[in-house]
Amino acid sequence: SITALKYGQNILAETNKYELVISDKKELSGLPQELINAAAEEAKAKGKDGKWVFTLSNSSVMPFLQYSSNRKLRQEIWNAYQMRANNNDEFDNKETAIKLANLRGEKARLLGYKSHSDYVLEESMAENPQNVNKLLNDLWKPALEIAKLEATDIQKMMDKDKIKDKVQPYDWRFYTEKIRKERFDLDEQELKPYFSLETVTKGVFQVTENLYGLKFKQLNDVPTYHPDATVWEVTEANGTHVGVLYMDFHPRASKRGGAWMTSYRNQKTVNGERIAPVISIVCNFTKPTADAPALLTFDEVSTYFHEFGHALHGLLSNVTYKSLAGTSVSRDFVELPSQIMENWASEPEVLKMYAKHYKTGETIPDALIQKLQKAGTFDQGFATVEYLAASLLDMDYHSQTTSITQDANTFEKNSMKKIGLIDAIIPRYRSTYFQHIFSGGYSSGYYSYIWSGVLDTDAFEAFKTTTLFNQEKAKLFRENILERGGTEDPMILYKRFRGAEPSVEPLL
Ligand SMILES: [Zn+2]
Repeated sequence: SITALKYGQNILAETNKYELVISDKKELSGLPQELINAAAEEAKAKGKDGKWVFTLSNSSVMPFLQYSSNRKLRQEIWNAYQMRANNNDEFDNKETAIKLANLRGEKARLLGYKSHSDYVLEESMAENPQNVNKLLNDLWKPALEIAKLEATDIQKMMDKDKIKDKVQPYDWRFYTEKIRKERFDLDEQELKPYFSLETVTKGVFQVTENLYGLKFKQLNDVPTYHPDATVWEVTEANGTHVGVLYMDFHPRASKRGGAWMTSYRNQKTVNGERIAPVISIVCNFTKPTADAPALLTFDEVSTYFHEFGHALHGLLSNVTYKSLAGTSVSRDFVELPSQIMENWASEPEVLKMYAKHYKTGETIPDALIQKLQKAGTFDQGFATVEYLAASLLDMDYHSQTTSITQDANTFEKNSMKKIGLIDAIIPRYRSTYFQHIFSGGYSSGYYSYIWSGVLDTDAFEAFKTTTLFNQEKAKLFRENILERGGTEDPMILYKRFRGAEPSVEPLL
């Protein structure tokens, strides 16, 4: 609707309007050189040659908060960030947020539902707002406890720095980064030589073969839309054709950012014959340089496994109608096949299988594996709490059974008070810039990410507690999840694979 569109435009306008201009070099203290260079370029582009400009785009404000040792400047940019579209001017979103929530509520009630959440969730795996709220609340308490411990660590460091104040939201990322360096000393540059694109590709293929028996053969005689794209034929162990997979890894000027899976031809069955799918994954990984192949960061490695999991969902599909094939499932189910693959990527046993130094062929050392694993669970309290707070806020806005009469700031404040959010953390998105739910189609849907997290962690437990390549479990996962697309209720499919409903315990 126009209202939702306006909401999104206001956020963009507010984000673009702000700039933090620095003219004194001393005020750049703590910032990494790439960020300083980017800020100098930004300044130049804005006609402020010789100065540095920081903005509210994530790639500027987030590293600034993480690295700037100037607490006053951190506070300044943070305030601008968290007050976006909340400044009582023409770009203010407070009224719009309430209006959208109320209109959705009215529509749902006209259709005979208690609330918008009841209406939206009917077709999801979660089924209703009670189930979503139960999950979010089950996770909330333990996550908050961990975040409080993290806050205590931060407070200690602030005391050492002689800062006479309580931990504020603009302190969190800065001190977390310091603690990360002190405790883990994980240097991305040290890891990268073990993750060349070639060796990671071998790893992804090997994991898939070990689980499902699939084979991958590169095809060099098939048309591609760009020379960068590679094409692979996927077959069963016995040679039966499964599908075709395109993979396109590096950025170029005309390519959108991020990583995604898409389908050129969905699988379907016609007159008893399986029509094989044509699937593609597209990424924006680090490019090769003059003297080294493409060496991936571990984030990129995880992304590769993730997108490959979506691709398997498309490739192994075995249904009748193409509209129900592969990833045509509800939003809180679609990330299960992708996220579960990430688990294999970081298992020591699997890392030793594929993480080999691109020059020497040496297997990744145990010490590096340990560092990688420790760093992976660090800072989870904060990340989970700010995410859950936003999810609960989403549910609160959309589970109302009557129209909201408060203003957005009051509503949000009361909502956060109910769950006991601490002052040092705010929801990942506040009411005036929560694009996902007010203009992005994720209303009563922001919980999906953690729902999928519960699913993939619980699903991976089936392997982790037995063997990583348990053939019986792999067969169950393939036949009940990967092959079935959206042909049945996801909870029924899941129970057939796992023998029970997903449990939150493993994630905790
Ligand atoms: Zn995904």
